[in-house]
Amino acid sequence: MHNVWMRLKGDFQLSIITLVGICSLIGITPYTVYRLLEGNLLVGGVDAVMVCSTCIAVVYAWRTGNTLKPGQFLAVVYSIGTFLVAIKLGVNGLFWFYTLILFNFFVVPPLQSAAATFCSLLAICIYGYLHPGVVFESLYQMTSFFVTCLIASFFASVFAYRGRRQREQLVELATLDPLTRVGNRRAMDSELEIALAEHRRYGTRYGMLVLDLDLFKEVNDSHGHKAGDRVLIEFTRIIKQSSRQSDRLFRMGGEEFVLLLPKLSRQGLEKTASHIRTSVAEQLKGPGGPVTVSIGGSVLDQHSSVDAWMHEADTCLYQAKEGGRNRYVISPTNESYGRTQGQTQLEKELSPAENQG
Ligand code: GH3
Ligand code: MG
Ligand code: MG
Repeated sequence: MHNVWMRLKGDFQLSIITLVGICSLIGITPYTVYRLLEGNLLVGGVDAVMVCSTCIAVVYAWRTGNTLKPGQFLAVVYSIGTFLVAIKLGVNGLFWFYTLILFNFFVVPPLQSAAATFCSLLAICIYGYLHPGVVFESLYQMTSFFVTCLIASFFASVFAYRGRRQREQLVELATLDPLTRVGNRRAMDSELEIALAEHRRYGTRYGMLVLDLDLFKEVNDSHGHKAGDRVLIEFTRIIKQSSRQSDRLFRMGGEEFVLLLPKLSRQGLEKTASHIRTSVAEQLKGPGGPVTVSIGGSVLDQHSSVDAWMHEADTCLYQAKEGGRNRYVISPTNESYGRTQGQTQLEKELSPAENQG
């Protein structure tokens, strides 16, 4: 139950689709039964399809975490459904268009929603025009309906656009480091937890590099905080350039960063660490000369927690600093060293000639 609540709290679209599901179940089901009982099979059937489709979409969204596809599916089903109901019920069915306008703007992005709403409006007006007296009582009524729906759609789209934009900005504020624009500690904690869960569930490989700039305090002390900030920004640019698109960089705090690398073996992690160390040594220029980085790395293995995994990488970083800085140390793992479970001592392997400044 706690998990359900957390997902609802963390995923706005999922909560909206769930709310829509509950509302349509409670709101449309009685109509479905009523229409079927009075023998109106078309409207009853359309209502039943809408309720069933909603249930399927909600289940799909919960199972896959993908809310866009079920949202689009629902927008199409409800747009067609509302059109059919209006054809059958005439003026009484037209009121549902106002609900449709709000509904569409909730479940799909503003442009797609405007397109779906406009298509169904156009369809009902064309149908009404071709069949005078069936849907609309007069041309004047049809025009009023069309214009009021368009105005309602416009306000809904402005509101939906603003809402989406603000949500995106909030997510940015909550997860990005303002100086370097890489993920902050909060984002890192949650992504590391996800990595650990995926590793346990599917066996997905993950590597972690902890990167700490060498003697960075000197840059600040000699050239000021602003110069230090510029070095930090340039450093993140180099790391992004030297890593894969799927790798995620986080600023853990100060001049310490974490790079999370999916689907990487220990050898791959070592290669990446070596490449990053060299790139930084060659490209990162502070106001007083080159700035280097020390790196500790660990492949996710039988670790009991994210803390244990990070502790291993941190211990390696400490060893790299002790070893003279501008170097990397990667923790040995079962896969290449036959480390037995419970054996925690790190066998340092700092031999490659390239692993030095
Ligand atoms: P080591 O090689 O052992 O890591 O030495 P160090 O000097 O890099 O490490 P230390 O932890 O002593 O100093 C880290 C410095 O990082 C201290 C602080 O001045 C600087 N720092 C932390 N956050 C920021 C920041 O946001 N901007 C700037 N310009 N400097 C920062
Ligand atoms: Mg440092
Ligand atoms: Mg540090």
